[in-house]
Amino acid sequence: MNNFTNLTIKTAREKLDKKEFSSVELTKYYLEQIKKHNDRLNAFITITEHEALTMAEKADEKIHNGESTPLLGIPLALKDIYVTKGIKTTAASKVLENYVGHYDGTVVKKLKDAGVVILGKTNLDAWAHGSSGENSDFGPTKNPYNTDYVPGGSSSGSPTAVAADMALAASGTDTGGSIRLPASFCNVVGLKPTYGRVSRYGVIAMASSLDSIGHFTKTVEDNALYLQASAGGDPMDATTPPVAVPDYSEKLDHGVKGLKIGVPKEYFIEGLDPKVRELTEKALSWYQSQGAKLVEVSLPHTKYAIEVYYIIQTAEVSSNLARYTGVRYGDERSVFGDEAKRRIMLGTYVLSAGYYDAFYKKAMQVRTLLIKDVKDAFEKVDVMITPASPTLPWKLGEKTTDPLSMYLSDIFTVHANLVGIPGLSVPIGFVDGLPVGMQILGPHFKEDLLYQVGNAFEKEHPFWMERPVL
Ligand code: GLN
Repeated sequence: MNNFTNLTIKTAREKLDKKEFSSVELTKYYLEQIKKHNDRLNAFITITEHEALTMAEKADEKIHNGESTPLLGIPLALKDIYVTKGIKTTAASKVLENYVGHYDGTVVKKLKDAGVVILGKTNLDAWAHGSSGENSDFGPTKNPYNTDYVPGGSSSGSPTAVAADMALAASGTDTGGSIRLPASFCNVVGLKPTYGRVSRYGVIAMASSLDSIGHFTKTVEDNALYLQASAGGDPMDATTPPVAVPDYSEKLDHGVKGLKIGVPKEYFIEGLDPKVRELTEKALSWYQSQGAKLVEVSLPHTKYAIEVYYIIQTAEVSSNLARYTGVRYGDERSVFGDEAKRRIMLGTYVLSAGYYDAFYKKAMQVRTLLIKDVKDAFEKVDVMITPASPTLPWKLGEKTTDPLSMYLSDIFTVHANLVGIPGLSVPIGFVDGLPVGMQILGPHFKEDLLYQVGNAFEKEHPFWMERPVL
């Protein structure tokens, strides 16, 4: 069996086209890896072996006929919140344990049209509620770099699968950090695109004004290819504006000379792990050495971001989860977990007559101020760089009984969702064997710029090559 450990989408494409191996061989390798590691890591809820091999055979036929598109024959995994025709979609909740979708969502359809191979559906915090991957009705996912630690959530299985070589890349969702935080905990690249850049149609809704659909890859370059295949306007999702989709790979090698990188002072605060701070500052100095200009900026309302997020998000969650009445989908009566119940209660409370003005309306007003903060900052700088998470990955069980400390781990990521801007998490090193990532934030629809900035760093610091020992 070939060793595909350091394969990327980009290099796999070249090798598939040169017939060094087939998509079926590649798919078998990943299925083998899943069989080897899934019991321990719990990254997948459903493995679609039969479907994967059929898709790989089809891809091989096309490759044989000379077709070569970037994702043709590439084995991927999907967070189990993407509805897939004929395959279970559980959202990691017992409520949907037996739900089989009768359609493919837009992204799934686009990926299938691009010729990918779908290996299975990955684990998550139930309904995407969580930051650690432990809030799954199918058991917690483990961090592949140290199985005593959490991989981050809510998209826990997807980055774990990519890091542990159980898929070449994988999809996730990010409502308050669920792509960027686990990407940083698992030493992979994760993009939360601009709100509306990728269609939400056919992805189970968490909080509809915040949900963003994005992907995990080993490299920045791969992420650009994956986004390319999934971005764009969609008549099925009215929040996807018809903004042209640029070539996301075009500016990858443009470097950072002359770019202004904002460093928001509110993000380098007490409570930030000194080792995370050190690695982030090291990355910032490297950018400076490459001719970028570091500019201190201020996002003065940052201190309210978590509160605003946990009001607006729970309000929207309470409304979205109201559809699980047992009539059409699962039976919620006894099976919603504690976290979903907590959010439904909080959300219903902040929306209720008498409290609406004090909580929901006030939060919406502060959201406007958070939008203004970011707008003002981007008048002075091209991008901003912050840590992705205030802490290193924590031990399994460490925060499960303390929801508030779990919520605080989103402190650096929720702002982007409230404002709708894109954020890219890129590996910047390790502390005691545990991965650390930085977050690159940019103006709306500037994903190409984030890739440019992220790729410059990664090319000189290929941390992604440091694979976990399993
Ligand atoms: N950790 C955050 C929460 O629990 C974000 C979740 C997400 O982005 N889906 O709400």
